[in-house]
Amino acid sequence: MCLPIRASGVDDDDGFFKVMAAERSFIAIKPDGVQRGLVGEILGRFERKGFKLVGLKQLTPTRELAEQHYGVHKERPFFAGLVDFITSGPVVAMVWEGDGVITSARKMIGATKPLEAEPGTIRGDLAINIGRNVIHGSDAPETAAFEIGLWFQPSELSDWTPSDQGWRVEG
Ligand code: UDP
Ligand code: MG
Repeated sequence: MCLPIRASGVDDDDGFFKVMAAERSFIAIKPDGVQRGLVGEILGRFERKGFKLVGLKQLTPTRELAEQHYGVHKERPFFAGLVDFITSGPVVAMVWEGDGVITSARKMIGATKPLEAEPGTIRGDLAINIGRNVIHGSDAPETAAFEIGLWFQPSELSDWTPSDQGWRVEG
C-alpha cells in the first residue's frame, strides 16, 4: 500500500536520523468554485489554517481523468452528470501537507450536502446544492495517495519548509 507521505528527516537527541512522515491530501476547487471567483477565498482558508501548499495548478480535466477520479461512484445515477460537471471548465487542483491534513480538510470542507454542512465550513458558507458543492477533498490516506498520483506528476510537487515553520508546529 502506498500512503501519501513524504519522508523527511530530523536529527534526534540520540544522534540518529529519524524519518518523519508528512501527510498530504488532494484538494480541488471544482468548476463552480472557479466560475464563482471563490479560488482565493478557498485557498486562503487552507493557507490561514497553517497547512503547507505543495502542489497547485489549474486545468480542465479530461473525461478520462474525471472518470478515474470518481471511479468509486461509476455505478451511481449521478455519475454521468458529475463527470459532465467536473469536465465543464477549469478546476484548481492542489496538494496540501501537514499532520492530520486529510481529516482536517474534510472538516473544513463540510458535509457533501451543502445545506447540511455546518456554517463555518466551506460548503456551509459558500454552497447550497449537492451538485454544485465547490470543492473536493480526499477522504482517506489511500484515496489521497491515489488522487495525488492521478492529478500530479512527482516533479510538480514542492518539498519546502515555510520560513515560519516553528510558529506553526512546536518542536
Ligand atoms: N454528488 C452528486 N449527487 C449526489 C451525490 C454526490 O452530485 O447525490 C457529487 C457531489 O459533487 C459530491 C461528489 O458527487 O461532492 C462525490 O460524492 P461523495 O459522496 O464522494 O461526496 P464528497 O466526498 O465530495 O463529500
Ligand atoms: Mg468522496
